[in-house]
Amino acid sequence: MLSERTRFGIGGPAELYVEAASEPAFSAALRIAQSSGARYCIIGAGTNLIVSDEGFDGIVLRFGAHRISSDGTIVRAEAGAELQVLVDYCIDHGLRGLETMTGIPGSVGAAIYGNAGAYGHSIDERVERVRFLDGDSMRNFTAPECHFRYRESVFKDQKDWIVLGVELRMTPAPAVELRQTADEILKVRLAKYPAAMKCAGSIFKNLILAELPETVRRQIPERVIREGKAPSAYFLEQVGAKGMHRGGVRVADYHANLIYNEGGGTARELCALIGELKSRVHAQFGLELEEEVQYVGFPAPPHSA
Ligand SMILES: Cc1cc2nc3c(=O)[nH]c(=O)nc-3n(C[C@H](O)[C@H](O)[C@H](O)COP(=O)(O)OP(=O)(O)OC[C@H]3O[C@@H](n4cnc5c(N)ncnc54)[C@H](O)[C@@H]3O)c2cc1C
Repeated sequence: MLSERTRFGIGGPAELYVEAASEPAFSAALRIAQSSGARYCIIGAGTNLIVSDEGFDGIVLRFGAHRISSDGTIVRAEAGAELQVLVDYCIDHGLRGLETMTGIPGSVGAAIYGNAGAYGHSIDERVERVRFLDGDSMRNFTAPECHFRYRESVFKDQKDWIVLGVELRMTPAPAVELRQTADEILKVRLAKYPAAMKCAGSIFKNLILAELPETVRRQIPERVIREGKAPSAYFLEQVGAKGMHRGGVRVADYHANLIYNEGGGTARELCALIGELKSRVHAQFGLELEEEVQYVGFPAPPHSA
């Protein structure tokens, strides 16, 4: 069951689940999947996924290679490495650049795919090169070629491209200082996202202030704006999202952009709640919230209930 592979603890079965621990093994598995004619998809640690109750009618692949190495300020990581292990590696080696990403769960590959970030920084700031499979052959892209934007990259645009590894350029800094920054951030994060919480972090992306209509911008209090973005949580709060629930899934009563599975929740309930929140925000503000979470096993993104 894919529910065992998602942090939401939601999702039906896959026809086949394949985990490959090396590049050659993964390439071979991918070739077999492609030539079988079956549908296939790639997942990482499942921390940002909503998998349908019906599961995935095809092959689910996971790339597990997780080596991390460095050469001076250049750090190389395979895509299956846990992002937190990479963050800790950099801190321990006195390399600045990822410490604000402490506590973001998931794999390095997915962090590149979704340009993960927190506290004003995202992984693209450090990317030198990304190695990936374009469905056919192995290629390398420099950071500009990855077309990184807020929680977006070329890998999100090209769903059949698979990140295999990344090369990052870091800056030397005292490890103690980096660890202190990371520890402070982790304390705040754990209060917001308790370790056992079945969730996906933020459900919706924040909104880029400059892209909002003037009429909406005027309604947003200055104090909620961060790094040129208006938090989705602000709009969600205005429409009464906090504490809303459908069956076993609930919006946190302290954070309007956080939905969690309290136990026994289903993808159907989760999508119904997401749909309800989107239509309330649309009705009140004329805004289209966009999910940060990624869907697996749905014929089309389930925008509403
Ligand atoms: C408690 C909590 C807090 C979070 N906080 C943050 C945060 O502060 N900032 C932030 O950015 N995110 C945050 N997230 C979201 C999540 O951690 C990130 O999206 C993470 O990068 C997902 O990694 P994953 O390995 O679990 O990917 P999955 O959830 O398994 O997959 C996510 C997407 O990545 C794709 N993918 C996975 N591996 C690859 C690969 N090798 N190549 C190409 N595509 C791939 C999948 O196809 C899927 O579409 C949070 C999540 C949780 C649960």
